[in-house]
Amino acid sequence: MERFLLTCTRCGNTEPFDVKGKCGCGGTFLVEYDLPYLRKSWNRQSLARRPWTMWRYRELLPVRQQASPVTLGEGGTPLLRLTSLERRLGLGGLYSKREEINPTGSFKARGFSVAVTLLQERGIRKVAVNSNGNAASALAAYAACAGMEAFVFVPMDCPGLIVEEAVHYGARVFLVDGLIQDAGRIVGRGIAEQGWFHTGTLREPGRAEGKKKRWGWKWRSSSAG
Ligand SMILES: [Zn+2]
Repeated sequence: MERFLLTCTRCGNTEPFDVKGKCGCGGTFLVEYDLPYLRKSWNRQSLARRPWTMWRYRELLPVRQQASPVTLGEGGTPLLRLTSLERRLGLGGLYSKREEINPTGSFKARGFSVAVTLLQERGIRKVAVNSNGNAASALAAYAACAGMEAFVFVPMDCPGLIVEEAVHYGARVFLVDGLIQDAGRIVGRGIAEQGWFHTGTLREPGRAEGKKKRWGWKWRSSSAG
C-alpha cells in the first residue's frame, strides 16, 4: 500500500498517486504523505544507518519502497553559518545551504533524481524539458544515469557551459530563438509527435517533491490514508 496520494491545490480533489502534474480542473497536484504513520514507524537509529543523501528520507518521496532510486548522490549538502551577516542583522543563527555542491551544480538535481526515478518505474524512455539552464543539465545527467533519451530546449542566450554540459551527458540540446515559454511550446508539441514525457516545472510531481518546494505542508491523518 502506498502511503501517499495527490491533492489538487485548486479544488481539493484527491487521487491515487500518478506522474501527472495537473488535475482535471487545471489545478496543480501536490503529494500528501501519511505523516502520523511515519512518526510511529521511523526512529533515529534506523535513519542514522542510511547514507547521507536526499534518499535517507525516501518515505517522504512518492516512490515505491522497493524502487531503485536514480541517484548521483544529491542532497545532504552542508549548511554554512553566516556569522558576520548574523551579527549585522541581529539574528541568532543564519545558515546558507550549499546547494551548489549537488551533482550538476544546483538544487535542480534533487528534483530530477525523484522525477527520473518515477519515470523509470513507469517505463518512460524519452524525456524532455524547457529550461534557462540548470534544469537542462540536471535532466541530461539523470536521464543518462537511467539510460533514457533526453531532449532539452534552452533559449539561445543560455550560458554556453551548461549547454556543453548537457551535450556531454548525451542529451539532444536545441537552442531556441525565443524565451523559455517558447521552448516549452516546442516540448509540448513533442509529447504527441515524438512521444516525449514533459518534465517541465509543475508538469509532473517528482521535481517539486525532490525539491520539497511548496507553499505549506498539509498533514493527513493515518486513518484517512
Ligand atoms: Zn482540481
